[in-house]
Amino acid sequence: MAEPAVAAPEPADALSLADPYTVPTAYWHTLPDGRIQCDVCPRACKLREGQRGLCFVRGRIDDQIVLASYGRSSGFCVDPIEKKPLHHFLPGSPVLSFGTAGCNLACRFCQNWDISKSREIDTLSSAASPEALAVAAERLGCRSVAFTYNDPVIFMEYAMDVADACRERGIRSVAVSAGYMNPAPRAEFYGHLDAANIDLKAFSERFYEKITFAKLPAVLETLEFLCDSDVWFEITTLLIPDHNDSDAEIAAECAWLAEHLGPDVPLHFSAFHPDFKMRDVPPTPPETLRRARRIALDHGLRYVYTGNVHDQEGQTTTCPGCGAAVVVRDWYRMVRYELTDTGECRHCGTRVAGVYDGPAGTWGSRRLPVRLATPTASA
Ligand code: SF4
Repeated sequence: MAEPAVAAPEPADALSLADPYTVPTAYWHTLPDGRIQCDVCPRACKLREGQRGLCFVRGRIDDQIVLASYGRSSGFCVDPIEKKPLHHFLPGSPVLSFGTAGCNLACRFCQNWDISKSREIDTLSSAASPEALAVAAERLGCRSVAFTYNDPVIFMEYAMDVADACRERGIRSVAVSAGYMNPAPRAEFYGHLDAANIDLKAFSERFYEKITFAKLPAVLETLEFLCDSDVWFEITTLLIPDHNDSDAEIAAECAWLAEHLGPDVPLHFSAFHPDFKMRDVPPTPPETLRRARRIALDHGLRYVYTGNVHDQEGQTTTCPGCGAAVVVRDWYRMVRYELTDTGECRHCGTRVAGVYDGPAGTWGSRRLPVRLATPTASA
Protein backbone atom coordinates (compact mmCIF):
# COMPACT_ATOMS: atom_id res chain seq x y z
CA MET A 1 0.00 0.00 0.00
CA ALA A 2 1.49 3.33 -1.06
CA GLU A 3 2.15 5.95 1.59
CA PRO A 4 -0.16 8.99 1.31
CA ALA A 5 1.53 11.74 -0.65
CA VAL A 6 1.97 15.37 0.31
CA ALA A 7 -0.93 17.51 -0.75
CA ALA A 8 -0.79 19.18 -4.13
CA PRO A 9 -1.64 22.86 -4.02
CA GLU A 10 -5.21 23.73 -4.94
CA PRO A 11 -6.60 27.25 -5.23
CA ALA A 12 -8.85 26.84 -2.18
CA ASP A 13 -5.90 25.62 -0.11
CA ALA A 14 -3.57 28.48 -1.04
CA LEU A 15 -1.15 29.38 1.73
CA SER A 16 -0.33 32.97 2.55
CA LEU A 17 1.57 34.65 5.34
CA ALA A 18 -0.94 37.49 5.00
CA ASP A 19 -3.53 35.14 6.51
CA PRO A 20 -3.79 36.05 10.23
CA TYR A 21 -3.83 32.36 11.18
CA THR A 22 -0.63 31.52 9.30
CA VAL A 23 2.70 31.81 11.13
CA PRO A 24 6.35 30.98 10.38
CA THR A 25 7.86 27.87 11.97
CA ALA A 26 11.34 26.82 12.99
CA TYR A 27 11.85 23.12 12.27
CA TRP A 28 12.71 22.74 8.59
CA HIS A 29 15.68 22.79 6.25
CA THR A 30 16.36 23.23 2.55
CA LEU A 31 17.40 20.21 0.49
CA PRO A 32 19.97 20.29 -2.34
CA ASP A 33 17.20 19.85 -4.93
CA GLY A 34 15.45 23.01 -3.73
CA ARG A 35 12.65 21.32 -1.83
CA ILE A 36 12.17 22.20 1.84
CA GLN A 37 11.85 19.41 4.38
CA CYS A 38 9.63 19.83 7.43
CA ASP A 39 11.47 18.41 10.45
CA VAL A 40 8.64 18.29 12.99
CA CYS A 41 7.81 14.62 12.57
CA PRO A 42 9.44 11.56 11.02
CA ARG A 43 7.14 11.94 8.03
CA ALA A 44 9.76 14.41 6.73
CA CYS A 45 7.54 16.00 4.08
CA LYS A 46 9.63 17.47 1.27
CA LEU A 47 7.76 20.36 -0.20
CA ARG A 48 7.87 22.60 -3.22
CA GLU A 49 6.49 26.12 -3.12
CA GLY A 50 2.78 26.15 -2.31
CA GLN A 51 2.58 22.50 -1.25
CA ARG A 52 1.17 21.32 2.05
CA GLY A 53 2.51 18.42 4.08
CA LEU A 54 0.64 15.24 4.83
CA CYS A 55 -0.84 16.87 7.93
CA PHE A 56 -2.32 19.57 5.68
CA VAL A 57 -1.92 22.39 8.23
CA ARG A 58 1.82 22.86 7.59
CA GLY A 59 3.06 23.86 4.20
CA ARG A 60 5.63 25.82 2.22
CA ILE A 61 5.16 29.42 1.24
CA ASP A 62 7.77 32.12 0.61
CA ASP A 63 10.54 29.51 0.92
CA GLN A 64 9.73 28.51 4.47
CA ILE A 65 7.46 26.08 6.29
CA VAL A 66 4.44 27.73 7.89
CA LEU A 67 1.64 26.63 10.18
CA ALA A 68 -1.72 27.62 8.70
CA SER A 69 -3.98 26.88 11.68
CA TYR A 70 -2.52 29.05 14.46
CA GLY A 71 -5.37 30.23 16.68
CA ARG A 72 -8.09 28.29 14.89
CA SER A 73 -9.94 25.33 16.32
CA SER A 74 -12.45 22.68 15.39
CA GLY A 75 -14.47 23.53 18.50
CA PHE A 76 -14.19 23.60 22.27
CA CYS A 77 -15.63 21.28 24.86
CA VAL A 78 -15.29 20.86 28.60
CA ASP A 79 -14.67 17.16 29.25
CA PRO A 80 -13.83 15.04 32.28
CA ILE A 81 -10.05 14.54 32.42
CA GLU A 82 -10.81 10.81 32.53
CA LYS A 83 -11.95 11.07 28.92
CA LYS A 84 -8.47 11.90 27.57
CA PRO A 85 -7.92 9.32 29.18
CA LEU A 86 -5.88 10.42 32.19
CA HIS A 87 -6.80 8.58 35.40
CA HIS A 88 -3.89 9.78 37.54
CA PHE A 89 -3.83 13.49 36.72
CA LEU A 90 -6.07 15.85 38.71
CA PRO A 91 -8.80 13.16 38.97
CA GLY A 92 -12.39 14.26 38.52
CA SER A 93 -11.43 17.67 37.11
CA PRO A 94 -12.85 19.41 34.04
CA VAL A 95 -10.52 20.00 31.09
CA LEU A 96 -11.10 22.47 28.27
CA SER A 97 -10.51 20.39 25.15
CA PHE A 98 -9.96 21.40 21.57
CA GLY A 99 -8.26 20.38 18.36
CA THR A 100 -7.58 21.90 14.98
CA ALA A 101 -7.67 20.05 11.67
CA GLY A 102 -5.36 17.56 10.01
CA CYS A 103 -3.06 14.87 11.39
CA ASN A 104 0.43 13.54 10.72
CA LEU A 105 -0.68 9.93 10.79
CA ALA A 106 -3.06 8.34 8.34
CA CYS A 107 -4.73 5.65 10.46
CA ARG A 108 -7.27 3.60 8.57
CA PHE A 109 -9.27 3.17 11.77
CA CYS A 110 -9.25 6.85 12.82
CA GLN A 111 -11.97 7.53 15.40
CA ASN A 112 -11.85 11.33 14.78
CA TRP A 113 -11.48 11.27 11.01
CA ASP A 114 -13.94 14.11 10.39
CA ILE A 115 -11.44 16.42 12.12
CA SER A 116 -8.11 14.77 11.51
CA LYS A 117 -8.65 14.21 7.79
CA SER A 118 -10.43 17.45 7.19
CA ARG A 119 -9.27 19.65 4.39
CA GLU A 120 -12.21 21.94 4.84
CA ILE A 121 -11.33 25.23 6.45
CA ASP A 122 -14.92 25.23 7.76
CA THR A 123 -13.82 22.60 10.25
CA LEU A 124 -11.81 25.36 11.90
CA SER A 125 -14.95 27.15 12.91
CA SER A 126 -13.74 28.71 16.15
CA ALA A 127 -10.93 31.11 16.77
CA ALA A 128 -9.14 31.91 20.01
CA SER A 129 -5.85 33.51 20.90
CA PRO A 130 -3.77 31.70 23.54
CA GLU A 131 -4.69 34.44 26.01
CA ALA A 132 -8.43 34.14 25.28
CA LEU A 133 -8.26 30.41 25.67
CA ALA A 134 -6.51 30.60 29.03
CA VAL A 135 -9.02 33.18 30.26
CA ALA A 136 -11.90 30.96 29.12
CA ALA A 137 -10.41 27.89 30.84
CA GLU A 138 -10.16 29.87 34.06
CA ARG A 139 -13.70 31.23 33.72
CA LEU A 140 -15.06 27.73 33.10
CA GLY A 141 -13.31 26.36 36.19
CA CYS A 142 -11.03 24.03 34.23
CA ARG A 143 -7.85 22.79 35.89
CA SER A 144 -6.27 22.10 32.52
CA VAL A 145 -6.60 22.46 28.77
CA ALA A 146 -6.15 19.52 26.40
CA PHE A 147 -4.93 19.52 22.82
CA THR A 148 -6.91 16.60 21.51
CA TYR A 149 -9.25 15.33 18.74
CA ASN A 150 -6.30 15.63 16.36
CA ASP A 151 -2.56 15.48 17.08
CA PRO A 152 -1.05 18.69 18.56
CA VAL A 153 2.36 17.78 17.11
CA ILE A 154 1.26 19.43 13.89
CA PHE A 155 0.15 22.70 15.54
CA MET A 156 2.88 22.77 18.16
CA GLU A 157 3.51 26.55 17.92
CA TYR A 158 -0.10 27.32 18.85
CA ALA A 159 -0.23 24.60 21.53
CA MET A 160 2.95 25.87 23.22
CA ASP A 161 1.67 29.45 23.33
CA VAL A 162 -1.64 28.28 24.79
CA ALA A 163 0.22 26.21 27.39
CA ASP A 164 2.34 29.23 28.38
CA ALA A 165 -0.71 31.48 28.73
CA CYS A 166 -2.42 28.81 30.83
CA ARG A 167 0.62 28.26 33.03
CA GLU A 168 0.57 31.96 33.96
CA ARG A 169 -2.91 31.33 35.42
CA GLY A 170 -2.05 28.08 37.17
CA ILE A 171 -3.85 26.01 34.53
CA ARG A 172 -2.03 22.96 33.20
CA SER A 173 -1.79 21.62 29.69
CA VAL A 174 -2.30 18.13 28.30
CA ALA A 175 -1.36 16.67 24.92
CA VAL A 176 -3.23 13.73 23.46
CA SER A 177 -0.85 12.51 20.81
CA ALA A 178 0.41 9.57 18.82
CA GLY A 179 3.93 10.54 19.87
CA TYR A 180 5.18 10.67 16.28
CA MET A 181 7.64 13.53 16.57
CA ASN A 182 11.33 14.21 15.99
CA PRO A 183 13.67 14.69 18.98
CA ALA A 184 14.35 18.46 18.81
CA PRO A 185 10.74 19.65 18.39
CA ARG A 186 9.65 17.00 20.89
CA ALA A 187 11.97 18.39 23.57
CA GLU A 188 10.75 21.93 22.95
CA PHE A 189 7.07 20.95 22.80
CA TYR A 190 6.99 18.92 26.01
CA GLY A 191 8.97 21.59 27.84
CA HIS A 192 5.71 23.59 27.82
CA LEU A 193 3.35 20.77 28.83
CA ASP A 194 2.32 19.08 32.06
CA ALA A 195 0.77 15.81 30.95
CA ALA A 196 0.17 13.61 27.94
CA ASN A 197 -1.69 10.59 26.81
CA ILE A 198 0.22 8.79 24.09
CA ASP A 199 -1.55 6.45 21.69
CA LEU A 200 0.58 3.35 21.31
CA LYS A 201 -1.44 2.03 18.43
CA ALA A 202 -0.01 -1.48 18.35
CA PHE A 203 3.21 -3.29 19.11
CA SER A 204 4.18 -4.41 15.63
CA GLU A 205 6.11 -2.54 13.01
CA ARG A 206 3.92 -4.15 10.38
CA PHE A 207 0.75 -2.67 11.89
CA TYR A 208 2.32 0.78 12.12
CA GLU A 209 3.51 0.70 8.55
CA LYS A 210 0.40 -0.82 6.96
CA ILE A 211 -2.37 0.70 9.07
CA THR A 212 -1.02 4.06 10.29
CA PHE A 213 1.69 4.73 7.68
CA ALA A 214 4.12 5.51 10.49
CA LYS A 215 6.97 3.75 12.29
CA LEU A 216 6.83 2.21 15.74
CA PRO A 217 10.41 3.00 16.94
CA ALA A 218 9.81 6.76 16.81
CA VAL A 219 6.80 6.36 19.11
CA LEU A 220 8.74 4.20 21.55
CA GLU A 221 11.44 6.90 21.61
CA THR A 222 8.80 9.44 22.64
CA LEU A 223 7.67 7.17 25.48
CA GLU A 224 11.25 6.83 26.74
CA PHE A 225 11.73 10.58 26.42
CA LEU A 226 8.62 11.24 28.51
CA CYS A 227 9.74 8.72 31.10
CA ASP A 228 12.87 10.83 31.64
CA SER A 229 10.92 14.11 31.72
CA ASP A 230 8.72 15.87 34.28
CA VAL A 231 5.64 15.38 32.12
CA TRP A 232 3.06 13.00 33.60
CA PHE A 233 1.96 10.55 30.94
CA GLU A 234 -0.34 7.62 30.38
CA ILE A 235 -0.63 5.29 27.40
CA THR A 236 -3.63 4.14 25.38
CA THR A 237 -3.83 1.17 23.05
CA LEU A 238 -6.99 0.87 20.99
CA LEU A 239 -7.52 -2.87 20.51
CA ILE A 240 -8.79 -3.72 17.03
CA PRO A 241 -10.10 -7.26 16.53
CA ASP A 242 -7.65 -9.46 14.61
CA HIS A 243 -5.28 -6.55 13.99
CA ASN A 244 -3.44 -5.87 17.24
CA ASP A 245 -5.23 -7.93 19.91
CA SER A 246 -3.33 -11.23 20.02
CA ASP A 247 -2.02 -12.47 23.37
CA ALA A 248 1.51 -12.48 21.95
CA GLU A 249 1.40 -8.85 20.78
CA ILE A 250 -0.19 -7.58 23.98
CA ALA A 251 2.38 -9.51 26.04
CA ALA A 252 5.24 -8.06 23.98
CA GLU A 253 3.91 -4.53 24.49
CA CYS A 254 3.51 -4.99 28.23
CA ALA A 255 6.97 -6.55 28.60
CA TRP A 256 8.50 -3.58 26.79
CA LEU A 257 6.58 -1.05 28.89
CA ALA A 258 7.55 -2.78 32.14
CA GLU A 259 11.21 -2.96 31.16
CA HIS A 260 11.62 0.50 29.64
CA LEU A 261 9.14 2.66 31.58
CA GLY A 262 8.62 0.75 34.83
CA PRO A 263 5.39 -0.41 36.49
CA ASP A 264 3.82 2.98 37.29
CA VAL A 265 2.86 4.34 33.86
CA PRO A 266 -0.91 3.78 33.51
CA LEU A 267 -2.01 1.79 30.48
CA HIS A 268 -5.50 2.00 28.96
CA PHE A 269 -6.87 -0.65 26.62
CA SER A 270 -9.81 0.90 24.83
CA ALA A 271 -12.51 -0.47 22.57
CA PHE A 272 -12.53 0.13 18.83
CA HIS A 273 -15.71 0.97 16.99
CA PRO A 274 -15.92 0.59 13.20
CA ASP A 275 -15.00 3.87 11.54
CA PHE A 276 -13.36 5.63 8.59
CA LYS A 277 -11.69 3.03 6.35
CA MET A 278 -12.21 0.14 8.77
CA ARG A 279 -15.97 -0.21 8.80
CA ASP A 280 -15.72 -3.91 8.00
CA VAL A 281 -14.06 -4.73 11.34
CA PRO A 282 -16.38 -5.51 14.29
CA PRO A 283 -16.27 -3.57 17.58
CA THR A 284 -13.89 -4.84 20.25
CA PRO A 285 -15.60 -7.37 22.55
CA PRO A 286 -15.34 -6.30 26.22
CA GLU A 287 -13.73 -9.67 26.99
CA THR A 288 -10.78 -8.72 24.75
CA LEU A 289 -10.16 -5.66 26.93
CA ARG A 290 -10.36 -7.71 30.11
CA ARG A 291 -7.97 -10.31 28.65
CA ALA A 292 -5.47 -7.59 27.71
CA ARG A 293 -5.73 -6.11 31.19
CA ARG A 294 -4.99 -9.48 32.79
CA ILE A 295 -1.90 -9.88 30.60
CA ALA A 296 -0.66 -6.41 31.56
CA LEU A 297 -1.20 -7.01 35.28
CA ASP A 298 0.64 -10.33 34.94
CA HIS A 299 3.59 -8.39 33.52
CA GLY A 300 3.76 -6.29 36.67
CA LEU A 301 2.07 -3.10 35.41
CA ARG A 302 0.25 -1.57 38.37
CA TYR A 303 -2.34 0.64 36.75
CA VAL A 304 -4.15 -0.94 33.82
CA TYR A 305 -7.60 0.11 32.66
CA THR A 306 -10.26 -0.80 30.15
CA GLY A 307 -11.91 2.04 28.25
CA ASN A 308 -14.95 2.87 26.09
CA VAL A 309 -17.01 0.21 27.95
CA HIS A 310 -18.80 -0.13 31.29
CA ASP A 311 -16.38 -2.20 33.38
CA GLN A 312 -16.10 -1.00 36.95
CA GLU A 313 -13.45 -3.57 37.89
CA GLY A 314 -11.35 -2.71 34.85
CA GLN A 315 -11.57 1.02 35.59
CA THR A 316 -10.65 0.86 39.27
CA THR A 317 -7.31 1.98 40.70
CA THR A 318 -5.96 -0.42 43.27
CA CYS A 319 -3.47 0.69 45.92
CA PRO A 320 -0.10 -0.96 45.22
CA GLY A 321 0.53 -1.06 48.98
CA CYS A 322 -2.56 -2.68 50.51
CA GLY A 323 -4.65 -3.68 47.50
CA ALA A 324 -7.63 -1.50 48.45
CA ALA A 325 -9.81 -0.15 45.64
CA VAL A 326 -8.91 3.52 46.07
CA VAL A 327 -10.49 5.07 42.98
CA VAL A 328 -13.54 3.32 41.58
CA ARG A 329 -14.80 4.52 38.20
CA ASP A 330 -17.58 3.65 35.84
CA TRP A 331 -16.59 4.91 32.40
CA TYR A 332 -15.80 8.62 33.06
CA ARG A 333 -17.68 8.83 36.36
CA MET A 334 -15.91 8.50 39.68
CA VAL A 335 -17.87 6.26 42.04
CA ARG A 336 -15.49 6.22 45.02
CA TYR A 337 -12.31 8.18 45.84
CA GLU A 338 -10.07 7.23 48.74
CA LEU A 339 -6.85 9.14 48.16
CA THR A 340 -5.51 12.08 50.14
CA ASP A 341 -5.09 15.51 48.56
CA THR A 342 -1.52 14.51 47.63
CA GLY A 343 -2.36 11.06 46.27
CA GLU A 344 -1.75 8.71 49.20
CA CYS A 345 -3.99 5.73 49.93
CA ARG A 346 -6.28 6.61 52.86
CA HIS A 347 -5.96 3.04 54.14
CA CYS A 348 -2.20 2.48 54.23
CA GLY A 349 -0.53 5.74 53.17
CA THR A 350 1.14 4.34 50.04
CA ARG A 351 1.42 6.96 47.33
CA VAL A 352 -0.36 6.21 44.07
CA ALA A 353 1.64 7.47 41.08
CA GLY A 354 0.27 10.58 39.44
CA VAL A 355 -0.38 14.31 39.82
CA TYR A 356 -2.69 15.20 42.71
CA ASP A 357 -3.36 18.68 43.95
CA GLY A 358 -6.20 18.92 46.43
CA PRO A 359 -9.46 17.00 46.66
CA ALA A 360 -10.81 15.09 43.67
CA GLY A 361 -12.93 17.14 41.30
CA THR A 362 -16.64 16.70 40.93
CA TRP A 363 -17.08 17.33 37.22
CA GLY A 364 -18.53 13.84 36.64
CA SER A 365 -19.09 12.51 33.14
CA ARG A 366 -20.53 15.68 31.62
CA ARG A 367 -19.44 16.89 28.21
CA LEU A 368 -20.13 20.58 27.69
CA PRO A 369 -19.59 22.14 24.25
CA VAL A 370 -18.59 25.80 24.57
CA ARG A 371 -18.20 28.63 22.10
CA LEU A 372 -15.31 30.98 22.75
CA ALA A 373 -15.50 33.27 19.78
CA THR A 374 -17.62 34.20 16.82
CA PRO A 375 -17.36 31.85 13.83
CA THR A 376 -14.67 32.68 11.32
CA ALA A 377 -15.44 30.06 8.69
CA SER A 378 -16.64 32.58 6.15
CA ALA A 379 -13.99 35.17 6.98
S1 SF4 B 1 4.43 17.88 10.73
FE1 SF4 B 1 3.18 17.74 8.85
S2 SF4 B 1 4.40 18.74 7.24
FE2 SF4 B 1 5.77 18.34 8.98
S3 SF4 B 1 6.74 16.36 8.46
FE3 SF4 B 1 4.96 15.91 9.77
S4 SF4 B 1 3.25 15.54 8.34
FE4 SF4 B 1 4.88 16.53 7.17
